[in-house]
Amino acid sequence: MTKVEVLLPVGFAGAEADEWSRPRGFPRPEALAREVDVLPGVGPAVKKKLQRLGLRTIGDLLTHRPFRYEEPVPERRIADLEGDEDVAISGEVLSVSNRRRGPLQMLTARISDGTATISATWFNQPWLQQQLLAGTEVRLRGRQGKYGFDVRSFDIGDAEATADFAPVYPASEDLAAKKLREIVGAALPASLPDPLPADLKQREALPGRDDALWALHRPRSLAEAEAGRRRLAFDELLLLQLWLARRRRERESEVAPALGPPGELVARYRDVLPFQLTEHQERAIAEIDGDLERTVPMQRLLQGEVGSGKTVVALYGLLRAVEARRQGALMAPTETLAEQHFLTLEEPCRLLGVTCALLTSSTAKRERDLAPHADVVVGTHALIQEGVEFRDLAVAVVDEQHRFGVEQRKALTEGRSPHVLHMTATPIPRTLALTVYGDLAVSEIVRPPADRKPITTAWVTEDRSGAAYTRLRKHLDAGRQAYVVCPLIEESETTQARAAEAEAERLQKGELRGYRVGLLHGRLRPAERRELMARFKAGELDVLVATTVIEVGVDVPNATIMIVQEADRFGLAQLHQLRGRVGRGSEQSYCLLISRAREDLTDPAIERLEALVRTNDGFELAEVDLDIRGSGHLLGTRQSGLTDLHFAHLRKDRPLLERARALADELVDAEGPLSDEVEQAFSERDLSAA
Ligand code: ADP
Ligand code: MG
Repeated sequence: MTKVEVLLPVGFAGAEADEWSRPRGFPRPEALAREVDVLPGVGPAVKKKLQRLGLRTIGDLLTHRPFRYEEPVPERRIADLEGDEDVAISGEVLSVSNRRRGPLQMLTARISDGTATISATWFNQPWLQQQLLAGTEVRLRGRQGKYGFDVRSFDIGDAEATADFAPVYPASEDLAAKKLREIVGAALPASLPDPLPADLKQREALPGRDDALWALHRPRSLAEAEAGRRRLAFDELLLLQLWLARRRRERESEVAPALGPPGELVARYRDVLPFQLTEHQERAIAEIDGDLERTVPMQRLLQGEVGSGKTVVALYGLLRAVEARRQGALMAPTETLAEQHFLTLEEPCRLLGVTCALLTSSTAKRERDLAPHADVVVGTHALIQEGVEFRDLAVAVVDEQHRFGVEQRKALTEGRSPHVLHMTATPIPRTLALTVYGDLAVSEIVRPPADRKPITTAWVTEDRSGAAYTRLRKHLDAGRQAYVVCPLIEESETTQARAAEAEAERLQKGELRGYRVGLLHGRLRPAERRELMARFKAGELDVLVATTVIEVGVDVPNATIMIVQEADRFGLAQLHQLRGRVGRGSEQSYCLLISRAREDLTDPAIERLEALVRTNDGFELAEVDLDIRGSGHLLGTRQSGLTDLHFAHLRKDRPLLERARALADELVDAEGPLSDEVEQAFSERDLSAA
């Protein structure tokens, strides 16, 4: 068992801080909550500037993360400057001017050091003009560039030169980098209570918390700065894992009905399925069966590509409730999805003599009253609205669970403790699963049913969209069906619907003349939508022009080709989801991504499109996505109420994450109350507020 020492904090002496030496005294955690103006040199004006940067308290300052450090560079005479080298130069300002170059504000100063004269340039910092007066001494770091000497950082006047490895904070507008460094320096504490066990710190090469903060803001080398970051990352991950471990534990004290071993109904279910379950489906089912035998409520995440056969597994879970003479419910995030699920489940339920009802906000009153008595209830969040009284809910399936807030998910299970299966088609890298869903057990359906051929994806630019439509018409002429996805419009569902209408009309007169075209968007009434989908499924329509409402849940195996217009506007996960609408039968399917001209695309857009062409593997794409976007924004954390990770890099810090998880388990299991104290000690960034 790990022994955790909680050091008792003493008084606070931060305000006496001498700029470069460590202040004496021991700040209490609450000292970290004090406002920035307790520091020397922070008056009302500076306080306001700091506030604009989101820095209100001492704790904010201490966790303000530098995005880079000044690296040591050689000093050069201006006459000796060559390109392609980071250097430092010193000289006197002769003149300064400010002008626009395209979207950029460019400030240029003529600088001389007696050996020669150069133009030094600053971008988008027009306010510097007042400081760079003629005659001012400056010291610049940077390199010779296209428009002269490209300044990376600088010192003005006779101030001490910026130290090597000085931190560079995210753009600080009118607050000089130097001033911000001084303020953060003044906030650095001599010592902080550090509850981490010494042996753990040693094993993981983690410095103490106070040393970590010093290393972050005053490193003597890049390695030292990185060690500091890792320690702060560990604290952050530990807090997150404590929160998750506690949730796991709370659930374990709840009691759900134990459903016993699988019975006759699910045996018949296997018989009515027109196919054999795949190995991965069988494994997921076995895992679910294992959970359902216990009285601890199941909390399982079922992950799998779109079309990998999750719904088939989910229905198995629902039927396990029904055969125990209880109820199953499936909650989907949109009405379209709920209806789709209902259409899928209705048929097998009927064959098995199981009653199945749909409950959404547009369900009529009479049916609404009856629905909660059905064996299987499918619906939207209308399921959790007041007045819906389930007879005896034993298994709940939550589809695309990251789209629901924690509150909504909780409400479904409020006052009852059913077994819960969360389904998601958004593949989540293991690292993310360990953080965001760290409180769930995970089942993965990695491979789709065997007779599927991998979808072929191609990326073409607009000028070649004619060829893409020729390809699409070939499929239609061969009796297949197709999707055309309209450009993404952010404003509103109504604007999007209107644009889709115009687009469908244009296509009907142009590329799709003579074909039967249907239009699916989010503004259709549920009954209209249902009818449209039924007609498409029955082959009465050749092409479905759609907004992203087809993203999930639509299942038409005869649809073998999809065109996505302006694909560069979509996110990676979203495109992958959309693509999953084809390739659901045994025919070879195609996804054609049309983008604007390559030179109009951002690098991340190009990376996304290239990744989609390269692979169909959702887990690989999720990793790529994580790389492109960085791990700052965790999928699902907004809803969970957790702050984004600030210091941790999920990929780089994977081993740390595992250690944090293990320690959190240990703390919560073995020393329940002590974990509170640990959390208290870390609470300057209020991760635990969730
Ligand atoms: P998901 O919910 O993961 O998107 P579904 O359960 O809706 O996937 O399955 C997608 C399609 O594949 C459905 O038409 C379903 O009937 C079919 N399917 C599911 N499992 C199998 C299997 N083992 N063999 C053949 N087809 C399957
Ligand atoms: Mg499905």
